[in-house]
Amino acid sequence: MLKTGQQHLESLRDGRKVYIGNELVEDVTAHPAFRNAAQSFAMIYDRKRDPENVDVMAYEADDGELSSSWFLKPKTKDDLRRRSETHRRVAEWSYGLLGRSPDHVASFVTGLTFRHDLFDDNRKGAGAHLEAYYDDMRRNDTFACYTVLPPQGARQPELYLREGLKVPTLQVTGEDSDGVILNGMKMLGTSAVFSNETWVGNLLPLGDDQAAESVTCAVPLNAPGVTIWTRKPFERYAISEFDSPFSWRFDETDAMVLFEDVRVPWERVFTHNDAPLSREIYFRTPSHIMGNHQSNVRFHEKLKLLLGIAHKSAELNNVLQVPAVRDTLGRLAAGEAGLGAMIAGQIEAAEEMVPGYLNVNLRYMYGALHWCTQNYANICEIVRELMGGGPFQMPADVSVIADPELREKFETYWSVPGQSAVERMKFLKLGWDLLGSDFAGRHQQYERFYAGPAFINTLYNFLNCPWQNMTDIVDGALTSYGTPEIEQVRRPLAAE
Ligand SMILES: Cc1cc2nc3c(=O)[nH]c(=O)nc-3n(C[C@H](O)[C@H](O)[C@H](O)COP(=O)(O)OP(=O)(O)OC[C@H]3O[C@@H](n4cnc5c(N)ncnc54)[C@H](O)[C@@H]3O)c2cc1C
Repeated sequence: MLKTGQQHLESLRDGRKVYIGNELVEDVTAHPAFRNAAQSFAMIYDRKRDPENVDVMAYEADDGELSSSWFLKPKTKDDLRRRSETHRRVAEWSYGLLGRSPDHVASFVTGLTFRHDLFDDNRKGAGAHLEAYYDDMRRNDTFACYTVLPPQGARQPELYLREGLKVPTLQVTGEDSDGVILNGMKMLGTSAVFSNETWVGNLLPLGDDQAAESVTCAVPLNAPGVTIWTRKPFERYAISEFDSPFSWRFDETDAMVLFEDVRVPWERVFTHNDAPLSREIYFRTPSHIMGNHQSNVRFHEKLKLLLGIAHKSAELNNVLQVPAVRDTLGRLAAGEAGLGAMIAGQIEAAEEMVPGYLNVNLRYMYGALHWCTQNYANICEIVRELMGGGPFQMPADVSVIADPELREKFETYWSVPGQSAVERMKFLKLGWDLLGSDFAGRHQQYERFYAGPAFINTLYNFLNCPWQNMTDIVDGALTSYGTPEIEQVRRPLAAE
């Protein structure tokens, strides 16, 4: 089914335990820290069903169920195009600011189902359980986030044991005929507050002695024993939509998820007690590629917003004719066009990693992922530079227009040719929210780390490069001419 926004909101009123500091949130859909972002996620569910979107953003699955296109198992380039366009529309509606929108983790899970054998080798029937979970997600339009890293600093359990401390990272602490018992913490559940489930797993390698941590499973976020500890929610501190339009509506939040004696039935356990496998599943299937294609597409939409702010700033500051400014805008435009080409190329040069299915080109996807994670901060710096000191020339907030006398003075002194003072303030507040606010700082960190640290992203590119092809070119060039006998060596020109 394609759930409605209202159904999604209702699904979040499920008794989940979300903490802001020491405050236990009763209802995330009504709380001032989360209600607007909850509506933004609901908006995605509603717009996806609209007549102008449903043909692309939904498909009829084999069981006849109309399902969101992010669950489509691609077999042709048209399937890949449909998936990509679906990601694009979701990202367009949120300006690329919701990184963990409902299409991200769903794409990871869809990709995993291409290889039941990996899961069956670990535990008999696990492949079928995974397929059943995927079907369940698809039929209910489930929104899952993921928590696939141990908490920072906890990657060497022996250090904790030496100090007599409890190892904080999530592990299986018991099992019986029904399933496993989980205890410990996982980071960092972006969108956990607004998701139905969390996918628990391991995207970084584990040591052989960390088998207890190597569980992969799906856990409802209202399961007994699960608590969600959010970082500072920016929406709560946004005083109005006018003053902080993005913080107001698009703070997806990030949260540590704590598991205390959480029971997970075997039907939802997909790997267990196999440290290497718990990570390899993402790379021996197209899972990681499919999930991160969404990240590429989402980033591209955000980049368009940044370019729009850059150009508008130059216009309003009356510097668009300055050659150096045009040069700066041209460099931004080249980057944006290049990313668009990298995304299109991933589909044009699609590959078959698992027979019968098509996936976007792996190397082109990792190349784009690397470009995005490495360039975001620099792009923001450039756009901030173009904004000049404008954001700080504005009054503290929009309340200034409530006083007729102040408003008149504001319009008299702050307006610029072609733009009223209030319009200018609106634009500068929007720009600053994306580039200089708390929300902006979080986005800088998100774009740096959402796909793991920089060195891991670089490693993906190193490991997947066909180096032999490159060195063969050099060898070919070296053998295209001979090595002279000593007496034939031509003297240096100067000596002739
Ligand atoms: C805003 C945000 C949202 C996120 N969302 C999610 C999410 O939805 N789900 C999820 O599971 N995770 C999420 N993450 C977690 C993210 O994957 C991690 O932050 C990332 O993998 C880095 O891990 P860490 O924060 O523990 O840093 P650390 O591993 O502690 O690294 C700290 C620094 O040390 C460097 N470093 C560490 N080891 C090495 C090394 N061997 N060589 C070179 N440099 C090294 C790193 O590059 C980094 O600069 C999110 C993170 C952020 C910031």
